[in-house]
Amino acid sequence: MTRVLVLAGTTEATALAGALAARAVDVVSSLAGVTTRPAGRAGRVRRGGFGGVEGLCTYLRDEHIDALVDATHPFAAQMPFHAAAAAATVGVPVLRLLRPPWTAGPGDRWHRVPSLEAAAAALAELGARRVFLAVGGQRASAFGRCVGVTFVARAIEPLGDALPGATVVLDRGPFDTEAERALLSAHDIDTVVAKNAGGLATEAKLHAARALGLTVVLVDRPPQPAVPAVPDVPAALAWLVSRGLLHQ
Ligand code: NAP
Repeated sequence: MTRVLVLAGTTEATALAGALAARAVDVVSSLAGVTTRPAGRAGRVRRGGFGGVEGLCTYLRDEHIDALVDATHPFAAQMPFHAAAAAATVGVPVLRLLRPPWTAGPGDRWHRVPSLEAAAAALAELGARRVFLAVGGQRASAFGRCVGVTFVARAIEPLGDALPGATVVLDRGPFDTEAERALLSAHDIDTVVAKNAGGLATEAKLHAARALGLTVVLVDRPPQPAVPAVPDVPAALAWLVSRGLLHQ
């Protein structure tokens, strides 16, 4: 039986685990352990870091993994490089499952920046006063030094003391455009800050911002390792078929 390790944390990872389990693949989903209530999924689940590249190498060998699919979030900056390095060391085929980024359309008022820190700096330049933060709770502290800005931050888990004074909206996607529009209007938002995660589940905020004529400060993705990459689950399954690891 083929054994596939899926590095998870995305809707694609959950869908891939389901598709592989349905095809009688022994799939192990690996969660970083960041969220306390992760989405349910088919197959086996392990939680927590591996202990760097070395730890992942040990795991791949000990668990006799046949293929590694890195379906971590587009903004996971470290894990994709660890996956690429460990797979090369152990000789396990590796694939990056990476959804395409969003691209601006007519009517979008996007201000693209390379990092959350640059996004925080841009808010002053843009004269933002009431900002909707959709960057995840863990990195909200990057906006802690912004002066004269009121934040409404959406996150899956409470922010703790990451951004004192912020109004926190606890929710998890998928979101729809009408509800996003109502949320932005209710909080009198003038600027949306988001990461260019791509995908359907969270793009509604961009449609809502366009409809309301709001500025969006959009953070570009971090660099990716040079490994084969596919944009969706069907292409990941096709890759496994092409490697002889899955029957058509
Ligand atoms: P990261 O910077 O790439 O990873 C930091 C460390 O967390 C890694 O070195 C690894 O520890 C551990 N790790 C990350 N993903 C893991 C996984 N799937 N299984 C086991 N260990 C994992 O990633 P991050 O930005 O902290 O994100 C952590 C998780 O949240 C990822 O699974 C990602 O898909 C998910 N997520 C991230 C974002 C985001 O915006 N960054 C958004 C939504 C979901 P060791 O070195 O000890 O192995």
